Amino acid sequence: MPSDASKSRGLAQAHMVRLKQSHILGMAGLVSEARCQNDLSDFEKGILRAIGRDMDYYARVPPQLLEKLQKATTEARVVWREARRKSDFQMFKGHLESIVDLKRQEAEKLGYAGHPYNAILDRFEEGSTTDDVDKVFSALVPELKRILTRVLSDGKFLSRPPLEDAEYEENDMRCVNQEILALMEMPKGTFRMDVSTHPFATHIAIKDVRVTTRYEGIGFKESMYSLIHECGHALYELQIDPAFEYTPLARIISLGVDESQSRFWENFIGRSREFIRLVYPILDKHLQLVQGCSFDDLYIYLNTVKPSLIRVEADELTYNFHIVLRYELEKRLIAGDLSVSEVPALWADMMEKYVGVRPRSDAQGALQDGQWSGGMFGFFGYSLGNIIAGMIYDKIRKEMDFEQLVGKGAFQTIKDWLKENIHKWGNTYSAKELQRRIFNETYNPTHLVNYLEQKYLR
Ligand code: MG
Repeated sequence: MPSDASKSRGLAQAHMVRLKQSHILGMAGLVSEARCQNDLSDFEKGILRAIGRDMDYYARVPPQLLEKLQKATTEARVVWREARRKSDFQMFKGHLESIVDLKRQEAEKLGYAGHPYNAILDRFEEGSTTDDVDKVFSALVPELKRILTRVLSDGKFLSRPPLEDAEYEENDMRCVNQEILALMEMPKGTFRMDVSTHPFATHIAIKDVRVTTRYEGIGFKESMYSLIHECGHALYELQIDPAFEYTPLARIISLGVDESQSRFWENFIGRSREFIRLVYPILDKHLQLVQGCSFDDLYIYLNTVKPSLIRVEADELTYNFHIVLRYELEKRLIAGDLSVSEVPALWADMMEKYVGVRPRSDAQGALQDGQWSGGMFGFFGYSLGNIIAGMIYDKIRKEMDFEQLVGKGAFQTIKDWLKENIHKWGNTYSAKELQRRIFNETYNPTHLVNYLEQKYLR
């Protein structure tokens, strides 16, 4: 979108959000009437829960604040892009300060028990608190450190795999991606793939779900895994019960549950030996650079573990450190314990502490992600997604011969499991309630740790 028009877009968006607010608050009578009924089905309770959450939000946050947030984030988005390109945090600093200030006001209006960040956290992961997330991370981080230290001292991934620097033709990679879509049996009539700067999945309707990937001409795995990742999001939305269409249940529950679906396909399936055996002949057919490369070389390249600066390029072992860092910063910004001008330096220090590498520029550090410019403070959701994906992996392997199914490309059985347990419910239950129903526990990082240990150390 034209960068000079961000002010006008901000104004239009601000007006839209006020219309949404008055529309939702206009349903207050219906909602309180429905809340008095005691013979509601799970479907009806779900709708009431979803609308009720929106209603509570819009009842607490005044229209002036909503408007300011919309304007500030729409403008900041454009400035962030330019600041990132020039690697100049100073350019973006004032905008981030305004956004943090508005988010702090939002937290105050929403109200919270304990830490102010809880008010914001609840918007992304219903009913979760900083105590919950702190507990999960303090169990996860030392285990990841332990596994990472051993993997690095092992030396297997340290050398730069030759495939990493090999260049590919965009058209060849398009053919690979088309075949991967066929392998995953992505439905042709309700789904499509396009190209964008940052890969994403989007949901227009239950029967209209779209994904993008990108072609950078080097490092082909990024294009392939972005696609598989986004297909994981797409399958979730495609398999929601069609009866929920046009209700607030026809959507994902939370960032964590949504990300569990994409990470499950990208990593637990996509980076497994069995899956890589299936894509090996496809890559061999279309990409010259893979021809003559052994299966083991390919497997190592696709699973390389290497401390690096950029979150979206991080391997599955170091990825969560990138999230813990952002979560710590967000928590302190919202609490008012940290000023925006301190962010770049603290970012660099924490990157060194957790990942062992230090950014040399703002673009490699605090400017790399766009979420904050959009007012989205909720990075922890990505790690919760990895943790839930680990829980799915553990559960599914107890119920079926998962490796054999992946090896045969029998993905329908796996899709059916995901549909029955997760997808078809849409937004009927909260993320915690859904986990209790499937696993009898919530956000347990042990299964993710077991999976990583098995994969990288044994
Ligand atoms: Mg994602």
